Amino acid sequence: MTTPTTPHTPVMAQYLRVKAEFPQTLVFYRMGDFYELFYEDAERAASLLGIALTQRGQSGGQPVVMAGVPAHAVDTYLSRLVKHGESVAICEQIGEPASAKGPIERKVVRVVTPGTLTEGELLGEKSESVVLALHAGTRHQCGLAWMSIAQGLVHLAECAPDELESWVSRTGASEWIVSDKLPTVFEERLRAFTQTGPRALARRPHWQFDTALGSQALLRHLQVASLSPWQAEGLDPAHAAASALLAYAAHTQGRELPHIHGIHVHRADEAIDLPATTVRNLELVRTLRGEDSPTLLSLLDTCMTGMGSRALQRWLLHPQRDRTQARERHEAIATLRGGDWKSLRDRLKGCCDVERIAARIALRQARPRELVALRWTLQRLGPLSATVLELGTVFSPLATDLQPPQDCCVLLERALCEEPAAAVRDGGVIAVGHDAELDELRAMGTGYDRFLLDMEARERQRTGIANLRVQYNKVHGFFIEVSQGQLDKVPTDYQRRQTLKNAERFVTPELKAFEDKALSAQERALARERWLYERLLDELGTSVLTLVRLGQALASLDALCALTERSVTLDWRRPEFVATPCIEIDAGRHPVVQARLAERNAGSFIANDTRLGSKHRMLILTGPNMGGKSTYMRQVALIVLLASMGSFVPAHSCRLGPIDAIHTRIGAADDLANAQSTFLLEMLEAAQILHTATSQSLVLMDEIGRGTSTYDGLALAGAIATHLHDKVGAFTLFATHYFELTEFAATHHHAINVHVSAVESGHDIVFLHEIQPGPASKSYGVQVARLAGMPTVVLNQARRTLATLESLAQRDRPQADLFTPAVEPECTEPSPIERWVEALRPDELSAREALEALYALKKLASRG
Ligand code: ATP
Repeated sequence: MTTPTTPHTPVMAQYLRVKAEFPQTLVFYRMGDFYELFYEDAERAASLLGIALTQRGQSGGQPVVMAGVPAHAVDTYLSRLVKHGESVAICEQIGEPASAKGPIERKVVRVVTPGTLTEGELLGEKSESVVLALHAGTRHQCGLAWMSIAQGLVHLAECAPDELESWVSRTGASEWIVSDKLPTVFEERLRAFTQTGPRALARRPHWQFDTALGSQALLRHLQVASLSPWQAEGLDPAHAAASALLAYAAHTQGRELPHIHGIHVHRADEAIDLPATTVRNLELVRTLRGEDSPTLLSLLDTCMTGMGSRALQRWLLHPQRDRTQARERHEAIATLRGGDWKSLRDRLKGCCDVERIAARIALRQARPRELVALRWTLQRLGPLSATVLELGTVFSPLATDLQPPQDCCVLLERALCEEPAAAVRDGGVIAVGHDAELDELRAMGTGYDRFLLDMEARERQRTGIANLRVQYNKVHGFFIEVSQGQLDKVPTDYQRRQTLKNAERFVTPELKAFEDKALSAQERALARERWLYERLLDELGTSVLTLVRLGQALASLDALCALTERSVTLDWRRPEFVATPCIEIDAGRHPVVQARLAERNAGSFIANDTRLGSKHRMLILTGPNMGGKSTYMRQVALIVLLASMGSFVPAHSCRLGPIDAIHTRIGAADDLANAQSTFLLEMLEAAQILHTATSQSLVLMDEIGRGTSTYDGLALAGAIATHLHDKVGAFTLFATHYFELTEFAATHHHAINVHVSAVESGHDIVFLHEIQPGPASKSYGVQVARLAGMPTVVLNQARRTLATLESLAQRDRPQADLFTPAVEPECTEPSPIERWVEALRPDELSAREALEALYALKKLASRG
């Protein structure tokens, strides 16, 4: 916008003052029934939302470019903008139009941003909205603080700058905030993972990233004198991040968050490491194509409530190395299986999102219908908590938190009507009998029928007009209607209000006075309702922490019931944790592939065993394309993960030693946006694994080295396998097409060969999908190409070429010690010949002695 030559209109001047405070954010400026956007904001929103851009009037000598969205449908537009990573400042009319001199008073009441949402309408009931603050800290340590506002729990962590990317991905944040004076090295880091990191980035004033302010803010929010109960003391960089996080949360919500109830400090060694590549490759929450289903989560999630689904996702993505919690969940599922879990699920059905509503009460954003849903849920809690109590001691803590908060329930029953309006401003929210003053105002505002009838009778008699009517409608208020034919009888005190086709409408001073009284009673009733609703939120506010705990308990119960249902329906078994390092699975299945086969009636899934332990730590897996190698490797990882999150597993039995990480190097997708080649990406991921995996990690390596030439690839694959085997000692599943690698096991004693079986029938191939000992005999690539419908001439030529190549390869077969690292010469024991030659002193030998030595040497050599 150019600098105006003439002054702006008062409304536009007000708008520009607001906009100056939110330069980076779209401003939704309330004007009557619409939110309007102006100038650049209007252009941006019009292109993102596909709404019409218009020009109306002039301000500051320029046409006003604008676009608007209707207030009643604002959530739809907000949700679309937030998905584009945009933030929106909602500027409401807060003054009374009647008493306004100049433009009505307006104020930004809330900033809607991708990471700070609490509205189910904007978020989707199963999604979490997480905002993360990052503080650069020192060269060696940065601070992280993140939270879901709907949950009210602050998470803190500190990490080395190199670990930042994996921490950021672990938080699942959709928005992050950084200082507006970030050191240059951090700016570069930030750019490096703009592709993988959260979509929205907010820059906040540098002074807000302050350790002392952060600790004070945490103490203030939690209303405590010390952070020691959460072991959250002395985390300077993380406190600085928390300072910015809490300030930003307050900025977006228009108030401080009164429902923050705790801190969770994350330490690097407490969770099982699931790098972003693992989450993606195992298709835990999203398919490789970015869809919600079929994934492990979509298979697991039969929860009855959104909060249950969210809890389940948290459990899945944050399994702990310490197995206490997972054991408790196994125990709870075993108990539920023996009880009436079905009726518990029936009772959970229809429960509202107590977790989110509690937060929205605290933030004073809860709408009347959310409170009615809360009332409905609280009224039904009694039988639910009684059933949970009967389940025994495992469930005692949950049963305690599920006790219905009686005060809240009574209050909601008394205060709210049966089916309230959607918005408080429309009235019709507070129940009759809750407030005498409101009841009286409502009676005055609506009880005018008697008056109208009385007046009609009186006026008919006075004027002699038999069909005269005294009426009321919302648009024109009160009036006396006289038909055309009777107009000559109208008395002089009648004042014309409106002309219709066949009639005229009038008012009298008496009717006008009555109208003023009735309408003002209606307005006062609405104002009284708004006030009473605020008081209701105040009173409920005192129970917010109880409601938060109740929400968490319902979410856990729902998630446990869903895992129970899955274990029964899909025949999953309880895993066993042991202290010895091992992954032992009998008859394991890939749950998602199995479900898909069942869904399509495409045959049954072939279960397979896995035996990894201190003796055998590495499986070299060979077999034809389509044979089931990837499926097998993934199923092992999924079973390990399911057991570690506290679920039963798709196997007959499973014994699991300690696990600290699941690493995967699977497939290869070109990352063109980051200008990284497939092969470079493959090597980057492999290098990352070699640096971070330990002997307690599970590593899946699928077809490593395929992105380059055969010899390069084979050499790298061999060297990587050797490093994992000799140095790292991780449990490794190593799927490969390089037959040469099957010789690896001959010289590496913790590795064994297994293969997926297939049989040939003529030119065709039948996949048996069974894991069998030993290497595969061949790769069946040509047969698989035939399945794909490759033309016969191409197949025939391929067969001929294959035969030639195989006969050549037979001649130059690599030696069995191909993957044994070359032995340094000085380390070898000298052979007898070498010792003998070493002892010779050529300068001291006669000609005859020299000849004898030569004969002796020849004799020694012929003995080998
Ligand atoms: P490629 O080397 O081409 O990637 P692969 O050996 O990794 O192939 P998978 O992708 O694991 O093969 O499996 C191919 C298909 O075979 C799967 O989509 C599934 O339909 C079927 N399959 C795999 N394992 C089994 C099994 N154990 N039981 C039944 N069907 C299976």
